[in-house]
Amino acid sequence: MNTRQLYLIKLGEICLKGENRAYFEKRLKTNIKKKLKPLKPTFRIQKGRFFLETNGGPQADEQVCRALETTPGLVGFSKTLKLSKDIETLKESAKILMKGVFDTELSFKVISRRSDKSFPMDSYEISCELGGVILEAYPKGKVNVKNPDVIIYVEIRDKAYMYSSASSHKGPSGLPVGVAGKGLLLLSGGIDSPVAGYRMAARGLRQDAIYFHTYPYTSDEALEKVKDLAKLISPYLNGTRLFVVPFTKAQLHINAHSNSEEHTLLMRYCMVKIANIVAKEVRAKTLVTGESLSQVASQTLESLTFTDSASDIPVLRPLIGLDKEEIINTARDIGTYETSILPYEDCCTIFSPKHPLVRPDKELMIASYKKLEIEEMLQEAADNCERFEFTYS
Ligand code: ATP
Ligand code: MG
Repeated sequence: MNTRQLYLIKLGEICLKGENRAYFEKRLKTNIKKKLKPLKPTFRIQKGRFFLETNGGPQADEQVCRALETTPGLVGFSKTLKLSKDIETLKESAKILMKGVFDTELSFKVISRRSDKSFPMDSYEISCELGGVILEAYPKGKVNVKNPDVIIYVEIRDKAYMYSSASSHKGPSGLPVGVAGKGLLLLSGGIDSPVAGYRMAARGLRQDAIYFHTYPYTSDEALEKVKDLAKLISPYLNGTRLFVVPFTKAQLHINAHSNSEEHTLLMRYCMVKIANIVAKEVRAKTLVTGESLSQVASQTLESLTFTDSASDIPVLRPLIGLDKEEIINTARDIGTYETSILPYEDCCTIFSPKHPLVRPDKELMIASYKKLEIEEMLQEAADNCERFEFTYS
Protein backbone atom coordinates (compact mmCIF):
# COMPACT_ATOMS: atom_id res chain seq x y z
CA MET A 1 0.00 0.00 0.00
CA ASN A 2 1.21 3.50 -0.79
CA THR A 3 1.74 5.74 2.22
CA ARG A 4 0.78 9.38 1.83
CA GLN A 5 2.93 12.31 2.94
CA LEU A 6 1.57 15.66 4.06
CA TYR A 7 3.16 19.09 3.46
CA LEU A 8 2.08 22.37 4.95
CA ILE A 9 2.58 25.17 2.43
CA LYS A 10 3.11 28.76 3.46
CA LEU A 11 1.66 31.28 1.05
CA GLY A 12 3.00 34.82 0.80
CA GLU A 13 1.44 37.55 -1.26
CA ILE A 14 -1.55 35.37 -2.14
CA CYS A 15 -2.69 35.89 1.47
CA LEU A 16 -3.05 39.62 0.76
CA LYS A 17 -5.57 38.95 -1.99
CA GLY A 18 -9.18 39.65 -1.21
CA GLU A 19 -12.11 38.22 -3.09
CA ASN A 20 -9.96 36.84 -5.90
CA ARG A 21 -7.70 34.84 -3.58
CA ALA A 22 -9.38 31.60 -4.69
CA TYR A 23 -8.31 32.30 -8.28
CA PHE A 24 -4.65 32.61 -7.23
CA GLU A 25 -4.85 29.49 -5.07
CA LYS A 26 -6.41 27.55 -7.91
CA ARG A 27 -3.56 28.53 -10.21
CA LEU A 28 -1.01 27.48 -7.62
CA LYS A 29 -2.73 24.11 -7.25
CA THR A 30 -2.73 23.61 -11.03
CA ASN A 31 0.98 24.43 -11.25
CA ILE A 32 1.92 22.05 -8.43
CA LYS A 33 -0.37 19.33 -9.80
CA LYS A 34 1.34 19.55 -13.18
CA LYS A 35 4.77 19.06 -11.63
CA LEU A 36 3.80 16.24 -9.28
CA LYS A 37 1.21 14.34 -11.31
CA PRO A 38 2.78 10.85 -10.84
CA LEU A 39 2.62 11.32 -7.05
CA LYS A 40 -1.15 11.90 -7.16
CA PRO A 41 -1.21 15.20 -5.30
CA THR A 42 -4.34 16.32 -3.44
CA PHE A 43 -4.96 19.65 -1.71
CA ARG A 44 -6.90 20.91 1.25
CA ILE A 45 -7.31 24.50 2.27
CA GLN A 46 -8.37 24.86 5.86
CA LYS A 47 -8.65 28.14 7.74
CA GLY A 48 -5.95 29.80 5.64
CA ARG A 49 -3.67 26.74 5.81
CA PHE A 50 -2.72 25.19 2.49
CA PHE A 51 -2.05 21.44 2.71
CA LEU A 52 -0.61 19.22 0.00
CA GLU A 53 -0.69 15.43 0.24
CA THR A 54 1.28 13.15 -2.11
CA ASN A 55 2.39 9.55 -2.35
CA GLY A 56 5.24 9.10 0.12
CA GLY A 57 8.74 7.60 0.26
CA PRO A 58 12.23 9.15 0.25
CA GLN A 59 12.39 9.49 -3.53
CA ALA A 60 8.96 11.03 -3.65
CA ASP A 61 9.96 13.47 -0.91
CA GLU A 62 12.98 14.57 -2.93
CA GLN A 63 10.78 15.10 -5.96
CA VAL A 64 8.24 17.12 -3.98
CA CYS A 65 10.96 19.33 -2.47
CA ARG A 66 12.50 20.03 -5.88
CA ALA A 67 9.10 20.86 -7.33
CA LEU A 68 7.97 23.14 -4.51
CA GLU A 69 11.29 24.97 -4.19
CA THR A 70 10.88 26.08 -7.79
CA THR A 71 7.21 27.04 -7.62
CA PRO A 72 6.49 30.79 -7.41
CA GLY A 73 3.59 31.68 -5.13
CA LEU A 74 4.77 29.80 -2.11
CA VAL A 75 7.06 31.25 0.53
CA GLY A 76 7.98 27.95 2.10
CA PHE A 77 6.82 24.46 3.01
CA SER A 78 7.33 21.82 5.65
CA LYS A 79 6.99 18.09 5.68
CA THR A 80 4.29 17.60 8.28
CA LEU A 81 3.07 14.73 10.46
CA LYS A 82 -0.68 14.26 10.71
CA LEU A 83 -1.46 12.60 14.03
CA SER A 84 -4.31 11.54 16.23
CA LYS A 85 -5.03 14.00 19.01
CA ASP A 86 -3.61 12.33 22.08
CA ILE A 87 -0.58 13.42 24.02
CA GLU A 88 1.14 10.01 23.97
CA THR A 89 1.13 9.99 20.17
CA LEU A 90 2.46 13.55 20.15
CA LYS A 91 5.30 12.62 22.51
CA GLU A 92 6.40 9.64 20.39
CA SER A 93 6.17 11.67 17.22
CA ALA A 94 8.21 14.57 18.64
CA LYS A 95 11.03 12.11 19.38
CA ILE A 96 10.85 10.65 15.87
CA LEU A 97 10.77 14.13 14.32
CA MET A 98 13.94 15.12 16.14
CA LYS A 99 15.84 11.93 15.30
CA GLY A 100 19.02 12.92 13.49
CA VAL A 101 18.55 16.61 14.23
CA PHE A 102 19.98 16.36 17.74
CA ASP A 103 23.21 14.50 16.96
CA THR A 104 24.92 17.79 17.65
CA GLU A 105 24.32 20.29 20.43
CA LEU A 106 21.35 22.20 19.11
CA SER A 107 18.93 24.39 20.99
CA PHE A 108 15.20 24.15 20.40
CA LYS A 109 11.79 25.27 21.46
CA VAL A 110 8.26 23.95 20.93
CA ILE A 111 5.49 26.27 19.73
CA SER A 112 1.98 24.87 20.15
CA ARG A 113 -1.36 26.15 18.94
CA ARG A 114 -4.66 24.70 20.05
CA SER A 115 -7.60 25.64 17.82
CA ASP A 116 -9.58 22.67 19.15
CA LYS A 117 -10.34 23.83 22.67
CA SER A 118 -11.70 20.40 23.65
CA PHE A 119 -8.13 19.10 23.75
CA PRO A 120 -7.44 18.61 27.49
CA MET A 121 -4.12 20.51 27.64
CA ASP A 122 -3.58 24.15 26.71
CA SER A 123 -0.82 25.20 24.33
CA TYR A 124 1.65 26.07 27.10
CA GLU A 125 1.20 22.65 28.71
CA ILE A 126 1.63 20.87 25.37
CA SER A 127 4.88 22.75 24.67
CA CYS A 128 6.29 21.97 28.14
CA GLU A 129 5.36 18.30 27.95
CA LEU A 130 6.90 17.81 24.50
CA GLY A 131 10.00 19.87 25.39
CA GLY A 132 10.57 17.58 28.39
CA VAL A 133 10.25 14.43 26.27
CA ILE A 134 12.70 15.74 23.66
CA LEU A 135 15.26 16.67 26.34
CA GLU A 136 15.00 13.23 27.84
CA ALA A 137 15.50 11.49 24.50
CA TYR A 138 18.29 13.80 23.28
CA PRO A 139 20.33 15.01 26.24
CA LYS A 140 22.58 17.03 23.90
CA GLY A 141 19.65 19.31 23.08
CA LYS A 142 19.03 22.55 25.00
CA VAL A 143 15.92 24.65 25.34
CA ASN A 144 16.28 28.22 24.10
CA VAL A 145 13.05 30.18 23.83
CA LYS A 146 14.60 33.39 22.51
CA ASN A 147 16.83 32.20 19.68
CA PRO A 148 16.53 28.45 19.11
CA ASP A 149 18.30 26.55 16.33
CA VAL A 150 15.22 24.42 15.72
CA ILE A 151 11.53 25.10 16.32
CA ILE A 152 9.01 22.29 16.60
CA TYR A 153 5.49 23.40 15.70
CA VAL A 154 2.39 21.62 16.94
CA GLU A 155 -1.15 22.51 15.90
CA ILE A 156 -4.22 20.91 17.37
CA ARG A 157 -7.11 21.17 14.90
CA ASP A 158 -9.29 18.45 13.32
CA LYS A 159 -6.15 16.34 13.79
CA ALA A 160 -2.80 17.13 15.39
CA TYR A 161 -0.14 18.45 13.02
CA MET A 162 3.57 18.53 13.80
CA TYR A 163 6.57 19.79 11.85
CA SER A 164 9.96 21.26 12.53
CA SER A 165 11.91 24.20 11.12
CA ALA A 166 14.70 21.68 10.41
CA SER A 167 12.56 20.13 7.68
CA SER A 168 11.26 23.43 6.31
CA HIS A 169 12.26 24.69 2.87
CA LYS A 170 12.00 28.02 1.11
CA GLY A 171 10.01 28.68 -2.05
CA PRO A 172 10.47 31.57 -4.48
CA SER A 173 7.60 33.66 -2.95
CA GLY A 174 5.62 35.98 -5.24
CA LEU A 175 2.62 34.83 -7.24
CA PRO A 176 1.85 31.65 -9.21
CA VAL A 177 3.05 31.51 -12.81
CA GLY A 178 0.21 32.21 -15.21
CA VAL A 179 -1.82 34.77 -13.24
CA ALA A 180 -0.13 37.66 -15.07
CA GLY A 181 -0.44 36.31 -18.62
CA LYS A 182 2.46 35.61 -20.92
CA GLY A 183 5.73 37.32 -21.88
CA LEU A 184 8.77 36.71 -24.08
CA LEU A 185 12.14 36.70 -22.31
CA LEU A 186 15.20 37.92 -24.22
CA LEU A 187 17.60 35.29 -22.96
CA SER A 188 21.31 35.79 -23.58
CA GLY A 189 24.09 33.66 -22.15
CA GLY A 190 24.89 36.21 -19.43
CA ILE A 191 24.14 36.41 -15.73
CA ASP A 192 21.30 38.91 -15.92
CA SER A 193 18.63 37.61 -18.25
CA PRO A 194 18.00 34.24 -16.52
CA VAL A 195 17.53 36.17 -13.28
CA ALA A 196 15.12 38.55 -15.04
CA GLY A 197 13.08 35.55 -16.24
CA TYR A 198 12.99 34.12 -12.74
CA ARG A 199 11.92 37.45 -11.25
CA MET A 200 9.05 37.87 -13.69
CA ALA A 201 7.96 34.24 -13.17
CA ALA A 202 7.63 35.12 -9.49
CA ARG A 203 5.30 37.97 -10.50
CA GLY A 204 3.06 35.41 -12.18
CA LEU A 205 4.29 35.79 -15.76
CA ARG A 206 4.43 32.72 -17.99
CA GLN A 207 7.33 33.10 -20.45
CA ASP A 208 8.78 31.77 -23.63
CA ALA A 209 12.39 32.76 -24.37
CA ILE A 210 14.17 34.08 -27.44
CA TYR A 211 17.89 34.01 -28.21
CA PHE A 212 19.67 35.81 -31.08
CA HIS A 213 22.35 33.54 -32.45
CA THR A 214 25.08 35.00 -34.66
CA TYR A 215 26.68 31.80 -35.88
CA PRO A 216 29.63 31.33 -36.49
CA TYR A 217 30.61 34.56 -34.68
CA THR A 218 28.87 33.12 -31.65
CA SER A 219 29.68 29.44 -31.30
CA ASP A 220 27.63 26.26 -30.95
CA GLU A 221 28.83 26.23 -27.36
CA ALA A 222 27.25 29.65 -26.81
CA LEU A 223 23.93 28.26 -28.03
CA GLU A 224 24.28 25.15 -25.86
CA LYS A 225 24.92 27.44 -22.90
CA VAL A 226 21.70 29.36 -23.55
CA LYS A 227 19.80 26.07 -23.90
CA ASP A 228 21.27 24.95 -20.57
CA LEU A 229 20.14 28.23 -18.98
CA ALA A 230 16.64 27.81 -20.41
CA LYS A 231 16.56 24.32 -18.93
CA LEU A 232 17.73 25.60 -15.54
CA ILE A 233 15.07 28.33 -15.27
CA SER A 234 12.35 26.21 -16.84
CA PRO A 235 11.04 24.73 -13.53
CA TYR A 236 10.54 28.27 -12.17
CA LEU A 237 8.78 29.28 -15.39
CA ASN A 238 6.56 26.20 -15.21
CA GLY A 239 8.04 25.08 -18.53
CA THR A 240 9.26 27.22 -21.41
CA ARG A 241 10.09 27.21 -25.11
CA LEU A 242 13.26 28.71 -26.53
CA PHE A 243 13.20 30.37 -29.95
CA VAL A 244 16.63 30.66 -31.54
CA VAL A 245 16.81 33.41 -34.15
CA PRO A 246 19.39 33.17 -36.96
CA PHE A 247 20.71 36.71 -36.54
CA THR A 248 23.97 36.68 -38.55
CA LYS A 249 22.66 38.19 -41.77
CA ALA A 250 20.98 41.10 -39.98
CA GLN A 251 24.00 41.67 -37.78
CA LEU A 252 26.41 41.84 -40.73
CA HIS A 253 24.03 44.13 -42.57
CA ILE A 254 23.95 46.52 -39.60
CA ASN A 255 27.75 46.49 -39.39
CA ALA A 256 28.11 47.22 -43.10
CA HIS A 257 25.53 50.02 -43.31
CA SER A 258 25.92 52.14 -40.19
CA ASN A 259 28.54 53.98 -38.17
CA SER A 260 30.40 51.81 -35.72
CA GLU A 261 29.34 53.83 -32.63
CA GLU A 262 25.71 53.03 -33.54
CA HIS A 263 26.19 49.28 -34.03
CA THR A 264 25.14 48.08 -30.58
CA LEU A 265 22.07 50.30 -30.40
CA LEU A 266 20.89 49.33 -33.88
CA MET A 267 21.49 45.67 -33.12
CA ARG A 268 19.40 45.96 -29.95
CA TYR A 269 16.67 47.85 -31.81
CA CYS A 270 16.53 45.05 -34.40
CA MET A 271 16.41 42.41 -31.64
CA VAL A 272 13.40 44.15 -30.12
CA LYS A 273 11.73 44.35 -33.56
CA ILE A 274 12.18 40.61 -34.14
CA ALA A 275 11.09 39.85 -30.58
CA ASN A 276 7.86 41.77 -31.31
CA ILE A 277 7.15 39.60 -34.36
CA VAL A 278 7.76 36.39 -32.39
CA ALA A 279 5.79 37.70 -29.39
CA LYS A 280 2.78 38.23 -31.62
CA GLU A 281 3.03 34.66 -32.91
CA VAL A 282 3.24 33.12 -29.46
CA ARG A 283 0.68 35.57 -28.01
CA ALA A 284 3.11 37.11 -25.55
CA LYS A 285 1.94 40.49 -24.34
CA THR A 286 5.26 41.85 -23.07
CA LEU A 287 9.02 41.50 -23.51
CA VAL A 288 11.37 40.86 -20.58
CA THR A 289 15.07 41.76 -20.55
CA GLY A 290 17.92 41.62 -18.05
CA GLU A 291 18.81 45.28 -18.46
CA SER A 292 19.85 47.31 -15.43
CA LEU A 293 20.12 51.10 -15.52
CA SER A 294 23.60 52.42 -16.38
CA GLN A 295 25.17 48.93 -16.46
CA VAL A 296 26.52 49.44 -20.01
CA ALA A 297 26.19 52.07 -22.78
CA SER A 298 23.05 50.45 -24.19
CA GLN A 299 21.36 50.68 -20.80
CA THR A 300 21.35 54.43 -20.21
CA LEU A 301 18.00 56.20 -20.15
CA GLU A 302 18.55 57.58 -23.66
CA SER A 303 19.53 54.16 -25.04
CA LEU A 304 16.56 52.48 -23.39
CA THR A 305 14.26 55.18 -24.78
CA PHE A 306 15.49 54.36 -28.26
CA THR A 307 15.19 50.54 -27.94
CA ASP A 308 11.77 50.92 -26.29
CA SER A 309 10.57 52.78 -29.37
CA ALA A 310 11.08 49.57 -31.41
CA SER A 311 8.43 47.80 -29.36
CA ASP A 312 4.64 47.82 -29.65
CA ILE A 313 4.35 46.00 -26.32
CA PRO A 314 5.84 46.94 -22.94
CA VAL A 315 9.45 45.97 -22.23
CA LEU A 316 9.72 44.81 -18.61
CA ARG A 317 13.11 45.14 -16.94
CA PRO A 318 12.85 43.62 -13.47
CA LEU A 319 16.57 44.19 -12.74
CA ILE A 320 16.51 47.87 -13.61
CA GLY A 321 17.28 49.05 -10.06
CA LEU A 322 19.52 46.20 -8.90
CA ASP A 323 23.29 46.23 -8.73
CA LYS A 324 25.37 43.39 -10.09
CA GLU A 325 26.04 41.83 -6.71
CA GLU A 326 22.33 41.49 -5.97
CA ILE A 327 21.79 39.94 -9.40
CA ILE A 328 24.68 37.52 -8.87
CA ASN A 329 23.30 36.47 -5.48
CA THR A 330 19.98 35.56 -7.08
CA ALA A 331 21.76 33.79 -9.95
CA ARG A 332 23.55 31.65 -7.36
CA ASP A 333 20.30 30.95 -5.50
CA ILE A 334 18.52 29.73 -8.61
CA GLY A 335 21.55 27.77 -9.83
CA THR A 336 22.28 29.64 -13.09
CA TYR A 337 25.46 31.48 -12.08
CA GLU A 338 27.98 28.71 -12.82
CA THR A 339 26.55 28.24 -16.31
CA SER A 340 26.30 31.97 -17.00
CA ILE A 341 29.99 32.57 -16.33
CA LEU A 342 31.16 29.97 -18.85
CA PRO A 343 33.32 31.87 -21.32
CA TYR A 344 31.37 31.57 -24.62
CA GLU A 345 30.74 35.08 -25.84
CA ASP A 346 27.49 36.74 -26.81
CA CYS A 347 27.04 38.85 -29.97
CA CYS A 348 26.68 41.95 -27.75
CA THR A 349 30.31 41.49 -26.70
CA ILE A 350 31.76 40.37 -30.03
CA PHE A 351 30.28 43.17 -32.11
CA SER A 352 30.45 45.92 -29.54
CA PRO A 353 32.25 49.01 -30.86
CA LYS A 354 35.19 50.65 -29.04
CA HIS A 355 33.25 53.87 -28.53
CA PRO A 356 29.51 53.17 -28.45
CA LEU A 357 27.02 56.04 -28.19
CA VAL A 358 26.06 56.52 -24.57
CA ARG A 359 23.38 59.22 -24.88
CA PRO A 360 21.87 58.67 -28.32
CA ASP A 361 19.33 61.01 -29.86
CA LYS A 362 16.24 58.91 -30.54
CA GLU A 363 15.21 60.68 -33.75
CA LEU A 364 18.71 60.49 -35.26
CA MET A 365 18.91 56.81 -34.35
CA ILE A 366 15.53 56.08 -35.92
CA ALA A 367 16.79 57.79 -39.10
CA SER A 368 19.88 55.52 -39.03
CA TYR A 369 17.63 52.49 -38.58
CA LYS A 370 15.47 53.50 -41.55
CA LYS A 371 18.56 53.87 -43.71
CA LEU A 372 19.36 50.20 -43.06
CA GLU A 373 16.22 49.07 -44.95
CA ILE A 374 16.39 45.90 -42.93
CA GLU A 375 12.71 45.09 -42.19
CA GLU A 376 12.45 42.18 -44.63
CA MET A 377 15.59 40.63 -43.23
CA LEU A 378 14.18 40.89 -39.71
CA GLN A 379 10.93 39.21 -40.78
CA GLU A 380 12.94 36.45 -42.47
CA ALA A 381 15.00 35.91 -39.29
CA ALA A 382 11.80 35.70 -37.21
CA ASP A 383 10.29 33.22 -39.68
CA ASN A 384 13.31 30.95 -39.46
CA CYS A 385 13.55 30.53 -35.70
CA GLU A 386 14.52 27.12 -34.40
CA ARG A 387 12.44 25.98 -31.44
CA PHE A 388 13.29 23.97 -28.32
CA GLU A 389 10.99 22.86 -25.49
CA PHE A 390 11.86 22.57 -21.82
CA THR A 391 9.57 21.00 -19.27
CA TYR A 392 8.90 22.14 -15.75
CA SER A 393 10.67 19.26 -13.98
P1 ATP B 1 23.16 39.42 -19.62
O1 ATP B 1 24.01 39.12 -18.44
O2 ATP B 1 21.76 39.03 -19.44
O3 ATP B 1 23.73 38.87 -20.91
P2 ATP B 1 24.37 41.95 -20.13
O4 ATP B 1 24.79 42.61 -18.93
O5 ATP B 1 25.37 41.16 -20.91
O6 ATP B 1 23.13 41.01 -19.77
P3 ATP B 1 23.56 43.20 -22.59
O7 ATP B 1 24.47 42.30 -23.34
O8 ATP B 1 23.54 44.61 -22.90
O9 ATP B 1 23.74 43.08 -21.03
O10 ATP B 1 22.10 42.67 -22.78
C1 ATP B 1 21.05 43.25 -22.09
C2 ATP B 1 19.84 42.34 -22.23
O11 ATP B 1 19.52 42.19 -23.64
C3 ATP B 1 20.09 40.93 -21.75
O12 ATP B 1 19.87 40.83 -20.37
C4 ATP B 1 19.07 40.15 -22.55
O13 ATP B 1 17.77 40.29 -22.00
C5 ATP B 1 19.11 40.87 -23.89
N1 ATP B 1 20.07 40.24 -24.82
C6 ATP B 1 21.35 40.58 -25.07
N2 ATP B 1 21.91 39.77 -25.98
C7 ATP B 1 20.97 38.87 -26.33
C8 ATP B 1 20.91 37.75 -27.23
N3 ATP B 1 21.96 37.39 -27.96
N4 ATP B 1 19.75 37.06 -27.30
C9 ATP B 1 18.68 37.42 -26.57
N5 ATP B 1 18.67 38.46 -25.71
C10 ATP B 1 19.79 39.17 -25.59
MG1 MG C 1 24.75 39.73 -22.38
